Amino acid sequence: MSEHLMNTYMRQSVTFTKGEGVWLWDAAGEKYLDALAGVAVNGLGHAHPKLVKAISEQAAKLIHVSNYYHIAEQEALADKLCEVSGMDKVFFCNSGCEANEASIKLARLYGHNKGISNPEIIVMDKSFHGRTMATLSATGNRKVQAGFEPLVSGFIRVPYDDIEAVKQVASRNSNVVAILVEPVQGEGGINIPKDASGYLETLRQICDAHGWLLMLDEVQTGIGRTGTWFAFQHTNIQPDVMSLAKGLGSGVPIGACVARGAAANVFTYGKHGSTFGGNPLACAAGLATLQAIEQEGLCKNAEKIGDLIRLGFEAEFKNTTAVTTVRNAGLMIGIELDRPCGELVKMALAAKLLINVTADNVVRLLPPLVMNESEAKELVQRLATVIKTFLNS
Ligand SMILES: *Cc1c(COP(=O)(O)O)cnc(C)c1O
Repeated sequence: MSEHLMNTYMRQSVTFTKGEGVWLWDAAGEKYLDALAGVAVNGLGHAHPKLVKAISEQAAKLIHVSNYYHIAEQEALADKLCEVSGMDKVFFCNSGCEANEASIKLARLYGHNKGISNPEIIVMDKSFHGRTMATLSATGNRKVQAGFEPLVSGFIRVPYDDIEAVKQVASRNSNVVAILVEPVQGEGGINIPKDASGYLETLRQICDAHGWLLMLDEVQTGIGRTGTWFAFQHTNIQPDVMSLAKGLGSGVPIGACVARGAAANVFTYGKHGSTFGGNPLACAAGLATLQAIEQEGLCKNAEKIGDLIRLGFEAEFKNTTAVTTVRNAGLMIGIELDRPCGELVKMALAAKLLINVTADNVVRLLPPLVMNESEAKELVQRLATVIKTFLNS
């Protein structure tokens, strides 16, 4: 083990060397079921043939060229993203926090253009938007912020899924220019608003009434994860701005800030940029990802398999009061316990299963979108056994 890596992660003692579909193998040849997918990144599973082919062919042709020139793969991916989202324009970057940085800058510029010199953005409790200075300031988790003060100002925090709190801010603050919100909170514990579509629809109305931008952080919920291309497509509204990353490049780093209407024209020449953002390799990976999701019906599959997994756990734990809820939006699945359960990560790994625990007491599952029924049943069995052992210990 190298001593030359900074201590930023609590790593499990395993090194994976290859993967195929929902399966991973470690250096010793042991086989694991991957219900985490690199934290919602490997939607196509591992070593998907169409992705491997697209990346290999692109690497052999052209990996990188500056944004000083036209990039055909970037244009093709922007067109495809706008086709499936109904949005108008895309700015490409390399990660989720960068996509949110672009959204935040866009909102501030939108405000300045309207004569608001001190623009503010409404953000939520328990949210997660990234680890850069602006995005950790927007994040609703003190653990992410502590030690990095002074934070970036210009964020007003309200409880998640609380329309009244947003209305109160609207009534007393004329500097607000946007709301930044996750349709389903991922890191915060798979928090699904009580009336998920009603919540976004009401936020849309409030934004329209005040000339604010509705900015959705779909970094985790986007690219098929919740059973539609984007989580907002479970509603009848469109956002003004949407940030994407995780599943977009199937592991090749790429992020995107996608905008519509007036928001799509806020950035003008020289206002934002990125050296790597939207390079040919990353965009070829993004395009192959979207094509495979479409060709293989993976949005529908995410919905079907996600519900199957939830029903499986509900049946396993129907008499277990320690499991307080099982909830899902497609293949974003949360199993909430009545106690902290971080230990489950290690126990599951010993049972050859990759999972995550977030918000202290929520088991978070983000399986590849390609998971089939028998793999889903295997997941429920392995994890239910591990959770029962944990609860009885
Ligand atoms: C993971 C995540 C981010 C941050 O993405 P990075 O690529 O790690 O910067 C931002 N927002 C949400 C909702 C996320 O899940």
